Amino acid sequence: MILRRVIAHFRKQEWTAIFLDFVIVVLGVFVGFQVNNWNEVRKERADESAALSQMHEEVVAVEDLSSRILSDRLATLHFLSEIVDRLYAGTDGAPTDDHCLAIASSHDLYVGLADLPSYMQLQSSGRVGIIRDRPLLQALGGLAQARQALEFALANFGPRLINLAEDHAGVVLLAPRTISVANAPALTERDYAAVCDFVAFRKSPALRNALVSNLEYFDAFARDGLRPWVRELGNVHDRLDAALSIIHDERP
Ligand SMILES: [Zn+2]
Repeated sequence: MILRRVIAHFRKQEWTAIFLDFVIVVLGVFVGFQVNNWNEVRKERADESAALSQMHEEVVAVEDLSSRILSDRLATLHFLSEIVDRLYAGTDGAPTDDHCLAIASSHDLYVGLADLPSYMQLQSSGRVGIIRDRPLLQALGGLAQARQALEFALANFGPRLINLAEDHAGVVLLAPRTISVANAPALTERDYAAVCDFVAFRKSPALRNALVSNLEYFDAFARDGLRPWVRELGNVHDRLDAALSIIHDERP
């Protein structure tokens, strides 16, 4: 229709009308592009909001698991350090069941590493750019670095740890048991108690060497791997809470 009108204006050499036709066409194209852009931006904002909400749910689930594991591993580190100090320095205090349990699990670095699938999906589809919150992007980058460090610690320290209950069953004896899961009392998990012959540890340099070696690698794993990862996970959670205006009564 506009084309027929332009041809008619050309035949009559109505230059002002031709100019106006031209302006109408250009404006029409421009408005079309703008509407398209606005729709794209609106869709990206909706996708960003959905991705952040999903990421928040995932981070809460990972934190629930990691906080329980962190507290178990730090307890092992604490009692392992204490019993090594007592065995070497002869400081006061009799060894307890907690010290024995720490010795029996001093080879166990299990972490339950979990990903944030929503972030991985954005990465694999090249759409990380829809996240506009720069501090959140920095926190996600920090988490990725901390995860690499934790994976390095697991791969390099894990094989060097000695399973004392397996290699020295005569001095570290396991007793199977079922206990409640720490932050989910309705659930149970298989576990073990341990009985240790501490006199044998005092007498045997080989046993004490194994213990000191485990303590060194366990300490490095907690300091350079597990703790930074849990800290970076908390940073990501902080940024997501801020972006989504979420306030928790309590956080792990
Ligand atoms: Zn939160």
